[in-house]
Amino acid sequence: TPMSTPGGTRVKEEKIFVTVRVRPLSKKEQALKDQVAWDCLEDHTIVFKAPSQDRSISSASYSFDKVFGPTCLTETVYEEGAKDVALSALTGINATIFAYGQTSSGKTYTMRGVTESAVNDIYKHICNTSERHFTIKISALEIYNEVVRDLLKPDSGPLRLLDDPEKGTIVEKLEEEVAKDSQHLKHLIGICEAQRQVGETSLNDTSSRSHQIIRLTVESSLRENSGCVKSYVASLNFVDLAGSERASQTHADGARLKEGCHINRELKSGHIPYRDSKLTRILQLSLGGNARTAIICTMSPALSHVEQSRNTLFFATRAK
Ligand code: ADP
Ligand code: MG
Repeated sequence: TPMSTPGGTRVKEEKIFVTVRVRPLSKKEQALKDQVAWDCLEDHTIVFKAPSQDRSISSASYSFDKVFGPTCLTETVYEEGAKDVALSALTGINATIFAYGQTSSGKTYTMRGVTESAVNDIYKHICNTSERHFTIKISALEIYNEVVRDLLKPDSGPLRLLDDPEKGTIVEKLEEEVAKDSQHLKHLIGICEAQRQVGETSLNDTSSRSHQIIRLTVESSLRENSGCVKSYVASLNFVDLAGSERASQTHADGARLKEGCHINRELKSGHIPYRDSKLTRILQLSLGGNARTAIICTMSPALSHVEQSRNTLFFATRAK
């Protein structure tokens, strides 16, 4: 039976919700007279449209839980593609929202907006749930070439992963801060984003090769002893993956993430055959089992990117 979130909305039973977001043509693509190669139909389907001069390419269509077209606002992407998953963390269910797609397809743009909307929504629900006392903590990290770096503590060196028999994989010495309110939480998220941008301006564009995880830990307990439900604790992860065109590593990680989602349904944590990737180890307890996942696949509408966009759609198709 569907569960109710604190706001009373019904959480869909599906554990993996897969959506596709197509961004608008960029100024640069427009200047180069690139063409829009995709049509979004009825919120669920995306169709390849052959350019007018080439009718030999067959039009393929792909369907998902939702398809967001170029005019769609990030607010809507959050409401229809991530909200249910995000709010499940308020009732003790681990949740992960991640963006997958080639570099410049809109992963960071989308995750930023989705994270901000989720923070607003979470505090709205906290305000409306006066009978419970909530604590929100944040930690954030970046994984670049399998090296883990703390995004809340700029000058820290590489962090090690440890296997804790009770807590699963933990990141040793990872900074965790308690958010006093939504403003403070947004300020802390801003610090993480600024940290990541430092890398972006350096010679190698590290942001396209690194995964970023912002993790909120949501704890709550009843204010008064009213004899019913006890305490909740859950992680809510916002994951901005490396560009999917960086073939080997991101593909492997993306594939393992999906495997993790499925395999975990049958196996208890601790028996997962993808221990070698730091990304999947860190997210292990937040994937599969009782956890909920929203995958937002981002793509360029441009004809020049059609190969990468197809790869993204294949990934999205197999993610279900
Ligand atoms: P990625 O993180 O996948 O490399 P970005 O999020 O940095 O891609 O997006 C690339 C560029 O496209 C940025 O300038 C961003 O502002 C813009 N962009 C991405 N998605 C959208 C969108 N839905 N609407 C408008 N601009 C967008
Ligand atoms: Mg990015």
